[in-house]
Amino acid sequence: MSHADTDHATPATAAGPFPVEGVLLDIDDTMVDLHRAMDATLRAVARQTGLAVPAELEEQYSLDFSRDPDGFYDRYLAGELDFATQRQYRVRAAHERLGLEPIADLDGWDAVYTAILPTHFTAFDDVVPLLDALDDVGIPYGALSNNVADYQRAKLDRAGLERISVLIGTDTLGVAKPDPAIYVEGARQLGSAPERTLYVGDNPAVDAVGASDAGLVGVWLDRSRAGGRAAVGQGTGSGEVGFTGAVVGSLTDVMQLIAR
Ligand SMILES: [Mg+2]
Repeated sequence: MSHADTDHATPATAAGPFPVEGVLLDIDDTMVDLHRAMDATLRAVARQTGLAVPAELEEQYSLDFSRDPDGFYDRYLAGELDFATQRQYRVRAAHERLGLEPIADLDGWDAVYTAILPTHFTAFDDVVPLLDALDDVGIPYGALSNNVADYQRAKLDRAGLERISVLIGTDTLGVAKPDPAIYVEGARQLGSAPERTLYVGDNPAVDAVGASDAGLVGVWLDRSRAGGRAAVGQGTGSGEVGFTGAVVGSLTDVMQLIAR
C-alpha cells in the first residue's frame, strides 16, 4: 500500500485541510498555562510557609511536582485518591526525591497552595486568536479536560476564557480521557459529527491518539515546533505513542487544518 493510499484510508488523521464542524480543546497546558502557574505557586508557597528550597533546586522541584513521576494524578482519576491528597502526595514525593526537609503540615501547605494557584491561571497568547477565528467562520468550540467541570469552569474564567460555554469534565459522564465516550460526548455537545471534530491537546497519548481512537480527529499541540520548523506537520509514528496525525506548533495553526 502506498503512503497516499494510507492517508486516504484514514481521513481522521489527515494533516491537510478538511471540512471541520467543531473544535474541542484540552485545557491544562493547551489553553491555560498550568505548568507556569504551578511553578509560580510552588515558589510562592515555599516563601510564605518558610520551606527551604535552595534556588538551584527550584526548577527541578517544580518539574518534579508537575511531571508527577509517581502517577498520583492517575490514581486520582482512577478514584483511588481525592484531588487534594494527590497534590499533597506529589509535593511530599518531590521533597523526598530532592532531599528537601519534609513538609510538617501538608494540610497547611495545601491551603496556601490552593489559595495562590488560581491567581496565576492565564491563557496562552494563541487561544483568543484561535477562538476569534473560529467565531469568524462559525465553527463551534468547547473544552474537554481530565478534571471536574466546576473546577475547570473557574479556571477558564480566571484565565479570561468565559466565552467557552461547552465544557466537558470527568464528572460529565463519569469517565476520563482516553475513554472514547468522553470525546464523543464533546462532539455531541458541539453538535458536530465526531469524524469532523478536531480534538487539540498537548499530550500526544491521551489527547491526539485518544481522540483519534474515539473517531474524532486528534491534533497534537507540540509547542516545541513553534518558530523554526513548519508549523503544521504530521506525526512520524515513532516513539511510545506512535501518533501519525496532524501536529501543530501553536493553536492558531489549527486554522490551517480547516477547509474554508
Ligand atoms: Mg493538557
